[in-house]
Amino acid sequence: MAEIKSFKVMDILEKANEMEDIIHLEIGEPDFDTPIEIKNEGIRAIKEEKIGYTHSMGKKELREAIAMYYNKKYGTNLKYKNVVVSAGTSPALLLAVYTAMEFSGKNEILVSNPGYACYPNFIKFLNGKVSYYELSSEDGFSINIEKIKEKITDRTAAILINSPGNPTGVVLKKKDYMELAELGITIISDEIYQGLVYEGKQYDTILNYTVNAIALNGFSKLFAMTGWRLGYLIIPDRYIMLTQKLEQNLFISANTISQYAAIEALTNENVDKQINNMVKEYNKRRLFALAEIKKWGLKVAANPLGAYYIIIDVREYTNNSLIFAYKTLEKARVAVTPGIDFGTNLEGFIRISYAVSIENLEEGIKRLGEYLQNEKKIGKETRR
Ligand code: PMP
Repeated sequence: MAEIKSFKVMDILEKANEMEDIIHLEIGEPDFDTPIEIKNEGIRAIKEEKIGYTHSMGKKELREAIAMYYNKKYGTNLKYKNVVVSAGTSPALLLAVYTAMEFSGKNEILVSNPGYACYPNFIKFLNGKVSYYELSSEDGFSINIEKIKEKITDRTAAILINSPGNPTGVVLKKKDYMELAELGITIISDEIYQGLVYEGKQYDTILNYTVNAIALNGFSKLFAMTGWRLGYLIIPDRYIMLTQKLEQNLFISANTISQYAAIEALTNENVDKQINNMVKEYNKRRLFALAEIKKWGLKVAANPLGAYYIIIDVREYTNNSLIFAYKTLEKARVAVTPGIDFGTNLEGFIRISYAVSIENLEEGIKRLGEYLQNEKKIGKETRR
C-alpha cells in the first residue's frame, strides 16, 4: 500500500470543485450525454426485470456484438468465446496483468513513462514488478522500440501499451505495432480511446499484428458511458479457463442493465451516427485548442492525434508541475493536470483535456496564457 500513490488529478479535481469560477481542463471524461437509444435499452431492461446475474463472461449476445464490432471496425477475425465482459476497462486490466504473469511464470510488466497513472498501481497490487520504458519529449512521446528492447529481461511477462494514449494523445503507427509484435512478448493493449482518432486510421488494434496479445476496451470514452461501468478484454484461447474462474469468483458478472444497453451501443446505426458527430466535435475542439495555445505562445509537446488530451510544455516556468497546477488553480482559476501524475518524464509539463465546450476551452487557455505572460514579466523584473 505504501507504494501505491494517490491519483493527483483527483486531488486537484476535488479541490477545484470546492472553489468557485473555475474552468475545468483536468477532467478525462466525455461531456456528452450517453446516446438516447442506449439509455432507453437500459430503462427497458429494468422495466422488463432483466436484472439477474448474467453468465460470468458476459451475455452471449453482447460478446457476439463485441466480436462483430471489432471485426467490422478493426478488420479482425474474432470469435465471441475470446471476449470477456467486465465492469469497465479497469477490472479488465486487473485480469490481464494477472493472467499474463500467471501464464508466463514471470512477474515484470513493462509500462511507459509517461503513461496512465493507474497502470503501475495495478501491477504493484498484484505483487508484480513495474519496469518503465522511456518515452521522451525529444521524440514527441512516441514509442521508440530500441528503448523498449533495452528494458526486456528474462523476467518480462508483458509489455503494456495504450493507443491513443492518455496522457499524450499520441497514436501508434502500423510500424510501431509491427515492431512490438516482433518482440515475441505478450502485449497488453489498452484500446479504450480507439475510435477517437482525428487523422489517419480511426481504429487499429494489436490483434491485427499478433495473437500473443490481450486487448482491453470499454464503453466509457467513445460511447460516453463512464458511469455505466462496462468494458471487456479479448484474450487468446489458452487464457479462457483461468479468466472464467477469476470472473466467477471475483465479480460474478458485470452489470446486467449496462450489458443490455451496450448491445444497442454496438448495433444501432443511429448511435453510430451520433458517435461520428461526437468525434467530429472533439476534432473541432482539438484544432481550436491547438490554435489558442499557439496564440498565447505556449508550446505543445506531443502530436495530439487521438483521445482528448494535449500536453503543454511549461518547463520554462517550473520544474514542479504539481505546485504549478495548484498555483494555476488558485491564481488563474483554471484546473489542469500536473505531468508528474503520469511519470517522471512528464515533469515540467501539464495535460489539458478538450472534453469541454469551445467556450470553456477559450476561457481556460486565455486564463492560463495571461497568467503565464504575467509570470514571465515578473521573472524578468526579478532578474533585473
Ligand atoms: N485506461 C485509460 C488509459 C484511461 O484513461 C481510463 C479512464 N480514465 C481507463 C483505462 C479506465 O476506464 P474504465 O472507465 O473503462 O474503467
